[in-house]
This record gives sequence, structure tokens and C-alpha cells, in this order.
Amino acid sequence: MGRSFMPKIRTERELKRIQLEGLQRTANHIYKNSEFYQKRFDEAGVKPKQMKSLKDISKLPLMTAQDLQEGYPFPLKSVPFEKIVRIHASSGTTGKRKILSYTQKDINDWANMFARCYEMAGLTTKDRVQIAVGYGVWTAGVGFQLGCERLGALAIPIGPGNIDMQCQFLEDFQSTVLCATASMALLMGEEIEKRGLKGRIGLKKVIMGSERSSEAMRMRMKDLLGVDDVFDITGLTELYGPGTGIDCIHHEGIHYWADYYILELLNPETLEPVQPGETGEMVVTTLRKEAAPLVRYRTRDLTRLIPKRCSCGSILPMHDRLLGRSDDMFIIRAVNIYPGQIDYILSNSKGAGSEYQIHLDRKEDGKDYMTVKVERAEGRNKEGDTILMNTIEEEIKKQILVSGKVEIVDYGSLPRSERKSKRVFDNRGI
Ligand code: ZN
Repeated sequence: MGRSFMPKIRTERELKRIQLEGLQRTANHIYKNSEFYQKRFDEAGVKPKQMKSLKDISKLPLMTAQDLQEGYPFPLKSVPFEKIVRIHASSGTTGKRKILSYTQKDINDWANMFARCYEMAGLTTKDRVQIAVGYGVWTAGVGFQLGCERLGALAIPIGPGNIDMQCQFLEDFQSTVLCATASMALLMGEEIEKRGLKGRIGLKKVIMGSERSSEAMRMRMKDLLGVDDVFDITGLTELYGPGTGIDCIHHEGIHYWADYYILELLNPETLEPVQPGETGEMVVTTLRKEAAPLVRYRTRDLTRLIPKRCSCGSILPMHDRLLGRSDDMFIIRAVNIYPGQIDYILSNSKGAGSEYQIHLDRKEDGKDYMTVKVERAEGRNKEGDTILMNTIEEEIKKQILVSGKVEIVDYGSLPRSERKSKRVFDNRGI
């Protein structure tokens, strides 16, 4: 066995102490060394020495992707250039790229966090990891590789695509772990089946980046590739990159590295913390980052905390899978709804396809109505429509606490797009 990358923390109190120390250290560091943060703190009338308890984090100003874009090309820079050893970029949906700088220590911390992901997923130095995600200025691949080597497992840095070579490597090197996007992993599974390779490869686990994946997709992946486990790894470039959390072999939620960053879940409207277990926007504050620390950075990603200890016993807390983006939220009958919540229900409804639309209308009675159009899954006949419709309507009522009408439409009848499809059609006027 190699070394362990798990924190040597026994109690929640100890974890909180580490978080407070990290918060104080970070606040002092950026106030002293970053013009951007000094200005922000001064505008908010807050000084680093006011960070006396973890609750004091709420005194600090929030920041958004726009702050990073406006600081282009070296936003949040908090160390001299001599200390910066690398940059990575993250594409914004609008405007300039977000560039993040790293010191050698930042890179080291990232590798340790990523090695912890692999350890959490049960990998050892005996594993052979086929890394089929992209390499380059967008962080993915290099993080997967660094963490793998840090753990002491064998890295096979093949990158995405190139199915022939992927299949050959799986067979020749007897890779035990495949790191890929969900769609790439599924594609590989189909190829392996087509080529009759299943009995000749040695895959045990798939680790995939956080892309939407339904229970059905996971089942199919397990079946086609013959693996025991499929893991969800999380992360975003602003926060080092992928590798800041993963589910363990119990799959009860995504453990996140609370000793490296503080995760707050805020109501995106009021910016107040949500109740434990309620859906909110992920807001992160780094505790150890040097070159470009984040303070209360609004990620726009939505999830909920899982307020219980995992069966594995780890002190590291858990959040749910990502449930969508706060930008996509809409309100109907005073209830905040995210398309991700509908998506989640559909992905767990047998017989429902993955394409859907949400239509919002205001009728003569002055009330708002929601209709969800859902495609029937490929290859299913119309006979099951009524049952499917009723099941989804019940789930929406149960999980989102609002009534909606469900219409089942033919497979392939809703428009598809390469980019993100438009899901919500609000016809209610002003
Ligand atoms: Zn666990």
C-alpha cells in the first residue's frame, strides 16, 4: 500500500478548526497581496482580523465569474509572477475566458486532492488508469494524470477519442480504471460489445466527469464494460480543476474536500444560506490556494448537502450530484424550480427519454400552469404512455411540491442541439 491522502481529522470540531485557520490565513494573504481583494474588502468595510469564527465568512463579499473575466489575463493574482508556474483556462458562456494561475504548492495540493479521489474510489498502486479525457489548457487530463502518479498507480494518458487505440490499450495493458466523460464511456462500452472484447479486458471501475448521467446510463455502462462501480468526480477550473470531490464505494453522495475549501449553499435569490438538505447554489472559498484564491465564489451550480455521515465513516461531508444551474431557475406558484430537478426525475423514470421541454402558461383564471413535454424512450411503444405520464406527474408533485401536466411525445420529436438545448418556455408575459 502507498501513502494515504485522507485527512488525519477525527472530529467535526477539528475539521472546523482547520477551516477557520485556512479562512484566516487566506483572508490575510489576499488582503495583503491582491489589489482586487483589498479593494473588495475595503468596499465591504471588512478586515481580515474580523474572521473570528466560521460564521464571519458571511461578512465577506461574494464574487462571480464576471470578476474573473474583468481581471483578464491574470485575475485574482495574489503572488508575484516568479511564483506562478502554470495557468489554466475555463471558457465562459459569454465574454472572456477565465484564467487561473497556480503556484507549485497549488499544483501539489491539486495532485494530493486528486490522489484522494482515487483513494476514495478504492484505487491502489496496483491499478492501471486509462485516462481518456482531454488534455490542454482546459484542466481535465493533466489533473487526472497528476493524481494517478501521486497515488502511485500506473497512468495511461491516451486522451479522448481514438476508439481503436482505446480498445487495444484496454486489452493489452489490462487497464483496471477508465476515466472518461459519461458519453465517451458509453461509446466505449458499445464498441467493446460490438468487438466481443468484454471477456478479454480487465476494467473494474469507471470514473467520470460531472456530466448528466442517469441511473439507466450507469446501469448500461456497468453492463457493457463489465465494471463494478461508476464514480462521479467533481470540480471546476476556478477551484483547481476536477478532483475536488467524488463518491466512495457506497455511492451515498459526493464527498468533498472540506479541508481544502468551504462550501456554502445559498439561495440564489436572497443569497442567504439554505436549510441543510435544501437545494442551493454552491459558493466556494479556498483555504490553501496561493496564486488565485477564491472567496465566496458563486459557481452557479446547484446541489444540496446530504446531512448525514456516509456508511464509509469518513469525516468528509457529502453533497448531492449537481442538479443544474441557478441561471436556469424559474418560479411557478411561488415555488423555485430548476430544470435540473425535472431532469433528475425523468432520468429516474423508466421509459422516459432524455429530451424534454418545460412550458409555463398563465390561464384565464390568473393561475400559472406548467406542462412538461417528455420524449418516450427510444424503442418503447405508446402503450406505456399513461402509466409513464402518471408516474412522472406524481414524482413532480412529491419531489418539487408543485403540480404539472405531463405529455409524452414521440422519440426524436423534440429539437436537439449540439449546444445546450432550450428547456424552459415561459409564455406567461410580464
Ligand atoms: Zn463514503
